Amino acid sequence: MSMMQKMKILSQFCLDLMYPNRCPCCDIHIKWNEFLCEKCKNVILIEDGILCPFCGKSHNDCICNEDDMKYDEAIVLSWYEEEAKKGIIEAKLSENCNFMKYAGYEIGKRILENEQWNMADAIVPVPMSKNDFLLRGVNPAECIAREISSVTHIPLYKNWLKKKNGGQKQHMLSRDERAENVKQFYTEKHNLNGYTVILCDDILTTGSTMNRCAELLKSNGVKTVIAALAATTKRKENEIWQQQILESTSEQLKQ
Ligand SMILES: [Zn+2]
Ligand SMILES: [Zn+2]
Repeated sequence: MSMMQKMKILSQFCLDLMYPNRCPCCDIHIKWNEFLCEKCKNVILIEDGILCPFCGKSHNDCICNEDDMKYDEAIVLSWYEEEAKKGIIEAKLSENCNFMKYAGYEIGKRILENEQWNMADAIVPVPMSKNDFLLRGVNPAECIAREISSVTHIPLYKNWLKKKNGGQKQHMLSRDERAENVKQFYTEKHNLNGYTVILCDDILTTGSTMNRCAELLKSNGVKTVIAALAATTKRKENEIWQQQILESTSEQLKQ
């Protein structure tokens, strides 16, 4: 082994000691410069053709025909379940943002390969309110946005969208309450005429956050909004499944 190789191994060993790093999806130790372990990287990706390319939901869950649909296309990495769900919750509870960085890195590579997406003018994260940011110390959407920006060299703009303090956590609310709650998001006057913007968030549920943020960007002249998301939920499938369980339980009770 040459002196150079020995030095390289030694410096990596030191970096691993200084920055002990974990896979956020399964907790195993990974190298200091990795985001996820190899096993989790392979299981979290959604296969091609499964999602609607416009709204980012499964074809059963497609929301493209709803009145408040405001974004134009969606790039989604994972289902919000199992390993990916653990990685996303980890970013919300601790400061381990590895899952978001991995999502940003993978989405960034897809953007580079697409002739329309790689001409985008700006990357914008869904904002957090000041109070939430003070409480958490990290905005997962911004971790994704930052990584996409570093892969694609498309500039990041953190202040085009803002969020007032107050309001409730989206995932605690019903569909109608969510639509009301997203009024906490706002924008100031910017001249974004004809821009294409990549709008980043961690989870796509009913689409109300994405729609509100896309609507605000478009009120400043943005032409196209491409949603970039770490994960999407299987909403209707879950509801149907729960309904079936309820029905079969009540039938059993009748017998
Ligand atoms: Zn793992
Ligand atoms: Zn759709």
